[in-house]
Order: sequence, then structure tokens, then C-alpha cells
Amino acid sequence: MPELPEVETVARDLRPLITGATIVDATTSWARTLRAISPEDFADGVAGRRIEAVGRRAKQIVVDLSGGAFLTIHLKMTGQLFVVPQGGPEDPYVRLVLSLEDGREIRFRDIRKFGKIGLYGADADAAAEDPFAKIGPEPLLDAFTVRAFRKRLRARKGRLKPLLLDQSFVAGVGNIYADESLWAARLHPLRTARTLRPADERHLWIETRRILAEAVIRRGSSIDDYTAPDGDGEMQDHLAVYQRTGAPCLRCGRPIRRIVVGGRATHFCSWCQRLPAGDRAGARAILRTVSAPPDSRGRTRATRAERTQRAAATRRAAARASVGG
Ligand SMILES: [Zn+2]
Repeated sequence: MPELPEVETVARDLRPLITGATIVDATTSWARTLRAISPEDFADGVAGRRIEAVGRRAKQIVVDLSGGAFLTIHLKMTGQLFVVPQGGPEDPYVRLVLSLEDGREIRFRDIRKFGKIGLYGADADAAAEDPFAKIGPEPLLDAFTVRAFRKRLRARKGRLKPLLLDQSFVAGVGNIYADESLWAARLHPLRTARTLRPADERHLWIETRRILAEAVIRRGSSIDDYTAPDGDGEMQDHLAVYQRTGAPCLRCGRPIRRIVVGGRATHFCSWCQRLPAGDRAGARAILRTVSAPPDSRGRTRATRAERTQRAAATRRAAARASVGG
């Protein structure tokens, strides 16, 4: 699923393409793409509104519309956005189309149908609803200081990997960048927040921000079906642990290990990321799920990661061809 850097890239690519355009109609072919609104009410709510800004909050794209309304677009597993001339080739995976006054349309294409689009603030009579009320702070904003991070961290007791994935703790971090941040900060994914020393907290704050910022510059990681309007990202070529099970750690040369934490594959170096004695007891059962790294197995896993990337690249190319991009 696209994380902060991938969603930020899509938002930045879309911004110059659609800002200033006026929406004249919306056609929804898969009603469940819409979050708590009918296709008719959605079309009525967006028609005639001008697109004033395109941004991002957490892992969602936010499109500000005239009159105080805004759209939220959650790409989830396979959501993609394309801006194309109206009347382009039929595409069975397009779930929603926003027709623009200038003769173009914004297509939301979503093979697996997990994506969600919401409309807020369109009904002047209804109480203002904030879809992001429970979402934590944006890690790349200046307001997210090491002090602010520490305060949040010290209020939590959980292990670091699930904590970083918790969107109410910090916004936008997903599986890839959680693993990368923990490796860079030399912190074990099963370590608990309360065992961190002030220096550890600082490292985690620095590395999480550094890696997210680098990934934004590299236009995100093209591992799944993520596609930005202007092309794929290249952060996948600069990842240290994610999907590198069995490959040598870039710091110490020992094989990267993979365990499953809270149902999510987790990659780390057991030499560079030590687990303090106090955190070991409860972690034993999880660590038993570790992938032993003999060479043959390491190669198998590396090959699987490559296959995943190749298959996703093929799907992305097919998506572009189908919209004439
Ligand atoms: Zn290492």
C-alpha cells in the first residue's frame, strides 16, 4: 500500500495538472469506492466546484474544492489516478470518473477495489466532519519536533514496529518505511518504547524523517501497484532491509532476517538492531517465526521480491497503455 512518499508524489504530480479546473460531473461505476455517500449525492456535491488545491494528509490525497468542500482519495492497494482527455479507451478497472469542464477527466482506476473516495464539507447544513480527527501528526512538518515525538513516544508502551504503523501515533508511515527507519536508527522492531534512551528516541526521530524525505525526493518505492501520474519511483533501489531477507546487511554484512509482527512482514539485522534483555521474554514467540537465512533460501526470497516487482511493473505498464498514457 502506498505510504507517505508515494501518496505525496501522486499529489505533487496531480497538482499542476488539475488545480484551477472545474468539475462538471462525476460517474461512479463501483459505488463502494465512495465513503458513506451515494453516487448521486456525490455527483451533486462536486458538480460546479473548482479544484483549488491538491495536497496530502497521512496516506490520503486531499483535493480542496471551492465553497469549502474537499475530497479525500485513499489509493489503498491498487488505486491509481490518471488525467486524460474525455472519451478515451474503455477501461473495466475505472471505478470513478470526474469530468472536467475543459474536456479532460480524472479517472480513478482500482483493480482490487479497496480504494476509497470521500467528499466532505459539501453540505453547508451538515456539521463539519474531520476525517483526519484520529490521525497523528505529519512527520515531515516543522511542528514535528524531537520534543513532540518524545512526548508521544513516552505515552506509549507498545513495540516499535506496530507503533510506527499506528496512524494515530504518527501519520503516513507504513511497512516499508517503518522497517527502514528502525534499521537506520539501529533499533530492534520488537523493542518497546519504554526501553528507549533519549539518544535512541532522537535517532528514531531523525532517521524516520530522513528516510521519508529521501523517499519523497526519489518519488517513492515502486514495489506494488503504486503508479504516480509522472512515472514510477526509484526508492526501492535504495532500501536497506525491506524485502532483502537473506541478503547481507549494508552495515555489518550479516544476513537480513524476516519475522512477522502483528501480521506484517518485518525485516531487520539482528546484529545491528539488538533487543535489550528486558524486551526479550515476550518477543521469543515472534522471533521463532524468523526466516533462517541459508544461501539458497536467501536467493529464493530475493528472487521472489524481484518477481513481485516485475509483475507490478507489468501491471503499471498495462494501466498506462489502457488510458493512453
Ligand atoms: Zn547489520
